[in-house]
Amino acid sequence: MEQFTTIKSIKNWIKEQKKNGKQIGFVPTMGFLHEGHLSLMKKAREENDIVVASIFVNPLQFGEGEDYETYPRDEKRDYELAKGVGVDALFTPTVQEMYPQPMSATFIVHKGVDVLCGANRPGHFDGVATVVMKLFGIITPDRAYFGLKDAQQLAVLENLVRDYHLDIEIVRGSIVREDDGLAKSSRNVNLTDEERGEAPYIYKTLKDFAELIEKGKETSVPKLERKLQSLLNERISGNIDYAEIRTFPALEKIDDLSNETGDIIIAAAVRYSKVRLIDNVIINVSQ
Ligand code: AMP
Repeated sequence: MEQFTTIKSIKNWIKEQKKNGKQIGFVPTMGFLHEGHLSLMKKAREENDIVVASIFVNPLQFGEGEDYETYPRDEKRDYELAKGVGVDALFTPTVQEMYPQPMSATFIVHKGVDVLCGANRPGHFDGVATVVMKLFGIITPDRAYFGLKDAQQLAVLENLVRDYHLDIEIVRGSIVREDDGLAKSSRNVNLTDEERGEAPYIYKTLKDFAELIEKGKETSVPKLERKLQSLLNERISGNIDYAEIRTFPALEKIDDLSNETGDIIIAAAVRYSKVRLIDNVIINVSQ
């Protein structure tokens, strides 16, 4: 596996690959890799000639008081893990390399960002869109892989690629979980033992609600959301940022499920002492 830290060097390497007719699959990450990231890399390995992964903790997408400084990092381990799943090139730029001067223009995302994580993290998806567009400009992939763990991010990026007519296929990867159901996340290491013990109840509660909805007895979404929030409150000590049911990927509000066809997302975000966890379950409610 090759490792590149400069934009110039990876661009040259990409140019060489393209000259040889290679199709490129790209997996952007913030590192501290786990099975969730690796599943995307494995999928990219199966579907492309060349796999490029990036590790970059993007300061632009972290708000004030968020965990940019304490975001876990382990470059050596990440290198070995990426190599182990057959990544061809690992791109690990510094902040200085990615942002040598303040950006003269950045993205402002309008759709799907006043809800869920966007409502609690103003500017977050602007930062995500800006860095992903920069990375797309550098890597020029044929396919880019993103996890449904960050479902709202996926929805935002799918819209961005459509709006800007990019010849990049966005590929969705399903959520990889720990044995007890907790969604794998680099941030899980920053949970206290007690928090880690109860955190699987976030998924358990979302799954219980997916089953309840599938049974079809209760269809009023405001009622379901109130129940969801109170059950989460009973089961966990973290602060609930949101626990909502919306359409996916449009993320629109729903009044009653009996009028709904297609995919819906049951999503929650929970704040613990040092980390904020997100999780979701997507189900199809077509009759
Ligand atoms: P991150 O390093 O957290 O920015 O994540 C990089 C990519 O991996 C994003 O597309 C995430 O959605 C995806 N990802 C993170 N955790 C998981 C998981 N548990 N299962 C599947 N994909 C994930």
